[in-house]
Formats: sequence, C-alpha cells, structure tokens
Amino acid sequence: MSNDRQPQNSEAAAEAESAAPLEEIDSAVQKLGDSLSTADGQAIEESLQQLLETARDTSTDLDEALNTMRLPDDAGQYEDGLRKILQRIPNGWGRWISTGPGWYPLLVDLDDKLSELFPNYEVQQVKEKFGGLRYYWEPPYGTPYSLIDSMPDDADAFSDWLKRKELWEASNAGKDIITAFQRRREQANQLVRATETQAEKICEECGESGLLTKRGGWYKTLCPADIARLGYEALAPEQ
Ligand SMILES: [Zn+2]
Repeated sequence: MSNDRQPQNSEAAAEAESAAPLEEIDSAVQKLGDSLSTADGQAIEESLQQLLETARDTSTDLDEALNTMRLPDDAGQYEDGLRKILQRIPNGWGRWISTGPGWYPLLVDLDDKLSELFPNYEVQQVKEKFGGLRYYWEPPYGTPYSLIDSMPDDADAFSDWLKRKELWEASNAGKDIITAFQRRREQANQLVRATETQAEKICEECGESGLLTKRGGWYKTLCPADIARLGYEALAPEQ
C-alpha cells in the first residue's frame, strides 16, 4: 500500500479499519502455506485449524466491515452523489469508493446518467487500478426476466419458470423487451467506458488535467503539481 494518500482522503482510513479481519485471515493463510511447503503433517493440521478458527472469529467483523457504508471524508459537495453510489453496492462487496477526490465529479455524473437508464442498477466496485478508473456495475438483478416473475428457488417450480421464460422470449412482447434491455445495457456500458476514458486525462487527486504516471510499481493519473508533490514520474504518452 502506497502512503501517498493525504489525510483528507478517507480511503486509507477506511481500508485500515476494514483491513484488520482481512489481515488476520491473510496471516493465517500465509502460515498454512508455509507449513504445506514443509510437508510436516502435524504443522499442516495445526495451521489449518488456526485458519479455520481465525475465519470463524473474524467472519462477523468482516461482514460488518464490508457492509458499513464509508462515505469519504473529502466528499464535499459530492457527498449526496457518492452516497447514492454507495447505496447501490450490495452486501458483501465492501461499501466504499477507492478513488481519489479528483474523480468524484466523474462518478456522480456517471451515476446520474446510468440511473436514467436503470434506476435500480447495482454497483459492485468503484476503484482505481493501474492509474485508471474501474466502475463495475450490473443491471438490476434478474432483469429483464424479472418482468415475468422472480426466479423460484424450488427445482420443480424452476423448470416451470424456465418454460414460461422460453415462451416469453419467443413472444413478440418478450422479444421487444429483451431487445430494448440489451440496447439500454449497451448504452450504459458505453457511458461507463467513456467515463473511464475521461479519467485517463484527469488528475485523481485534484480533478485538473492529468496524465499517467508511475512511481516504483504504482501507477496514478496526476497533474503536474501532484506529480511533483507525490514524487511520481510522467510516462511518455502511448507507452
Ligand atoms: Zn492534481
């Protein structure tokens, strides 16, 4: 983890808080890995036992850590917009946004546009990776088949449901709805791609024009002032 985050960015704080149970599991897995490489039966059994205990002890903390909404401290005027995005993240995915504040306007604008296409769409993750923005989303669960009725859990009811689904798909009304759905999903994907492309030219820290930079193994999109402040180096374009 790089330590170039500023205190106003709550990502580091959010990660530190939620990392504790993850770190415990990680360290137990590490020990299991070490014991496996020694092929010592006793040591393997002990470390496996320890991993299971750690997993059991931390699972509640982990659920809580993942499901607690973490609105960034530096959200400022984007607070309401970011909250809407966080509310779209289902349980278990981690309800936080892992980008710097320079990209918040892009995120809020994208969410506005996507919600026109799919008011109840889901977000899985919003993060920076290799200096770029990644916005992982899905249409509402079950769409467009939720228009027939919800998929049953029970096996017999499920095979009936499949038959109804096939009939619906073959009907003119069904075809129209599916085509409209696919078109809308493609529009939404284009909006996401366009925003991710826009982010390639916007400083993740401050929102000014930026470019891809590198420091050691870390990539970031930064403006000249933040390149100097954080000690990154600009990469030649098209590399
Ligand atoms: Zn900047």
